[in-house]
Amino acid sequence: APDRPELLQTGPMMAMVEAQLKQHFTVHRLDAPDAEQVLAEAGPRIRAVATGVGSTGGGVRRVTAALMDKLPALEIVSNFGVGYDAVDAEEAGRRGVVVTNTPGVLDDEVADLTIALLLATIRRLPQADRHLRAGKWPSGGFPLSPTLRDRTVGIVGMGRIGKAIGRRLAGFGRPIAYHSRRPAEGVPYAHYPDLIALARDVDALIVIVPGGPETNNMINAEVLEALGPKGVLINVARGSVVDEPALIKALQDGTIASAGLDVFADEPNVPEALIGLDNVVLLPHVASATQVTRDAMGQLVVDNLLAWFAGEPPLTPVPETPVRATV
Ligand code: NDP
Repeated sequence: APDRPELLQTGPMMAMVEAQLKQHFTVHRLDAPDAEQVLAEAGPRIRAVATGVGSTGGGVRRVTAALMDKLPALEIVSNFGVGYDAVDAEEAGRRGVVVTNTPGVLDDEVADLTIALLLATIRRLPQADRHLRAGKWPSGGFPLSPTLRDRTVGIVGMGRIGKAIGRRLAGFGRPIAYHSRRPAEGVPYAHYPDLIALARDVDALIVIVPGGPETNNMINAEVLEALGPKGVLINVARGSVVDEPALIKALQDGTIASAGLDVFADEPNVPEALIGLDNVVLLPHVASATQVTRDAMGQLVVDNLLAWFAGEPPLTPVPETPVRATV
C-alpha cells in the first residue's frame, strides 16, 4: 500500500520481526546486493530503520552519521538489543531522530546465563565435559577445580542486568561489591567509585556495562593485574569493554586464573590465541539467546515502530534521544 511508511532493515532479523515489518512497512534491505542503489533511490523516503543482530549473529552494520546523511526523512531507529553501541545515538539525537532499544525483557535471561558462565568458568565444566568425551575418565578423574566458595564477587555495571545478577549471586552466600560511576539506588552491596580498587578486593569480576567509547578497553592490563592470579573475569557486556590482547596475555602468563567470555572485540571472529587456551570458556554471544526472550525482544522492536507511526511516544527510547510528543 502506498501509505505504508518506508523502512530500512540493516541486516537479517528474526522471522517474526521480518514478517511484521513487511506487514506494516515497505521494507528496503541494506544487506541486498544493490543496497547503494536502493539507498540512492529510496533513501529520501525512508522514515524508519530496524537494526540489530537478531538471532542470526555475525557483524552488525552500524547506524552512523554517514548512513543517516542518506536518510534525510529518518524519524526513528529501532534497535534489537538493550545495547545500542552500533547506533550513533548522540548523532541521532542531534538530528531529532529517536532511537529505541529493548531493555528489561532480557534482564533475567542474561543474568541466568551470567551465573551459568561464572560457575562453568570457575568449576571448569566445559573442560570436564571434554575430559569425559575424550575417554579420559577411566584412567583418571578430572582434576579438582577452583571454587566460588572462597570468593568475593565484583560486578562492573549495576544497572538493570547488574542488579538481576546481584539478586541471583546473593543466593550463593558470597560477598558482593560493584563499580559504576554513581552509586546505584536500592542495592545493599559496597560501591567502589574506583575500578582498580574493586578489582584488587575481589576474586571474580563480572562485566555488564554498556559498550561504546566511554567504556572502551575499561578492563585493561592494570585492572587484570589488580584482579590477580586467583582472579576470574566474566564478560557478558561487549567485547570493546575489555582490552582483548591484554586479556590474552594475562591468561597466558597467569596474571589472572581464567575467563568466561560471551562477547568479543571483532565478532564473529574470535582470536586463535583464545581458542587455544584451556583456562577460558567461550560463548558465541548467547546471553539473551532463548526463543522466549528473543521473541520478547523482537516484539519490542516492532512495537516501538508501531507506536511511533500511530502517533504515540515510543515505548523504550534511549536516554540520548528526544521524544517528540507529536509526529
Ligand atoms: P543499564 O543502562 O541499566 O546499566 C548500565 C550500568 O553500567 C549502570 O550501572 C551504569 O552506571 C554503568 N556504567 C555505564 N557507563 C559506565 C562507565 N563509563 N563506567 C562505569 N560504569 C558505567 O544497562 P543494562 O543493565 O540493561 O545493560 C548493560 C549492557 O549489557 C548493555 O548495554 C549491553 O551492551 C550488555 N548486554 C549484553 C548482552 C549479551 O548478549 N552478552 C545481553 C544484554 C545486554 P553509571 O551510569 O552510574 O556509571
